[in-house]
Amino acid sequence: MQQTKAYSAASAASPLKMDMIKRRETTARDVQIEILYCGICHSDLHTVRNEWSETMATTYPCVPGHEIVGRVTAVGASVTNFKTGDLVGVGCMVDSDHVCDNCRADVEQFCPDATFTYNSPDKHLGGVTYGGYSENIVVDERFVLHAPENLEPAGIAPLLCAGITTYSPIRRWGDIEGKKVGVVGLGGLGHMGVKFARAFGAHVVVFTTSPGKKEDALRLGAHEVIISTDAEEMQKHAGSFDFILDTVSAQHDINTYIGMLGLDGTITLVGAPEKPLPVSAFALLFGRKCLSGSLIGGIRETQEMLDFCGKHNITADVEVIPIQDVNNAYERMLKSDVKYRFSIDMATLKD
Ligand code: NAP
Ligand code: ZN
Repeated sequence: MQQTKAYSAASAASPLKMDMIKRRETTARDVQIEILYCGICHSDLHTVRNEWSETMATTYPCVPGHEIVGRVTAVGASVTNFKTGDLVGVGCMVDSDHVCDNCRADVEQFCPDATFTYNSPDKHLGGVTYGGYSENIVVDERFVLHAPENLEPAGIAPLLCAGITTYSPIRRWGDIEGKKVGVVGLGGLGHMGVKFARAFGAHVVVFTTSPGKKEDALRLGAHEVIISTDAEEMQKHAGSFDFILDTVSAQHDINTYIGMLGLDGTITLVGAPEKPLPVSAFALLFGRKCLSGSLIGGIRETQEMLDFCGKHNITADVEVIPIQDVNNAYERMLKSDVKYRFSIDMATLKD
């Protein structure tokens, strides 16, 4: 057992602060990673504040962080895919049962026994898993990804959650080339959704509540930007979309976006607001609309996404912060004031 520095929250009302946590010794299948950067996902905030208490109650202390990029510092005797010095990533999962139908179908995120990177029962040490707001992490090699060496590590980190969570539903929808695709919310997930939709050839439209993000949305790859509070502008686009990706983290009216879809259009939710969202049956019935959801992506698809990003020079737009600013970053995230992902420089944990 090793002691490691980390930032943890002691309760739903506590700020994150310096703590010492335990990491297991590297077993035969494990990769030990020195963490360079960890992105801040809105799910970290939902979890730290126990906002998902009905689905996934938080166990404290809680060490969040599932957008991890780092260097391999040691590997176990049976590890074949990684060596010391490799640039690697770890996302939202660190283990699964490896034998169920979902694992065999490369969608380990739906394994009934999946171990998530934080706040999940820890099969090795007991208690719960601790995430990436820490100096290092030990992970089964089957859940470690190769990170592209040609990209900036700070901007790679958010690909491990925000990246795969938007890449996966876009790929699953089918060939979006030439289709009219909407992205609702220009935050961490949203800005990656824009980049991927653009890269796959869609006509990309951003729906935002923040007029100040208009120029950035266009720079990030959107063809059009709609300020969602402008009813007249919204009306002009009603019934015209093939696919909409909804990344909003808070209560909002999804019926408005269902109304933006054309015949047989699909809206996929990736945002996970604390409370249920009311859905109008009629909004779905007229036009045979489809409402669906998507959760991160499997390991194979995450590697595919990272390779795609390496080839096409895609990273997240990040604001690098020292870990000491993490609580302030959470407050800014709640005000939609992130451009467009915070990436924590983990070297600052040594200060
Ligand atoms: P984020 O960076 O905070 O972005 C969320 C964006 O939603 C904001 O920037 C804002 O965009 C918009 N928004 C916020 N409050 C709103 C409101 N009241 N009404 C309308 N729009 C609002 O968050 P994120 O990290 O991208 O995560 C987004 C959501 O996805 C979270 O709920 C998170 O837990 C969830 N998530 C799900 C998965 C999955 O696997 N499904 C994975 C990761 C995260 P504008 O300023 O442009 O309006
Ligand atoms: Zn996340």
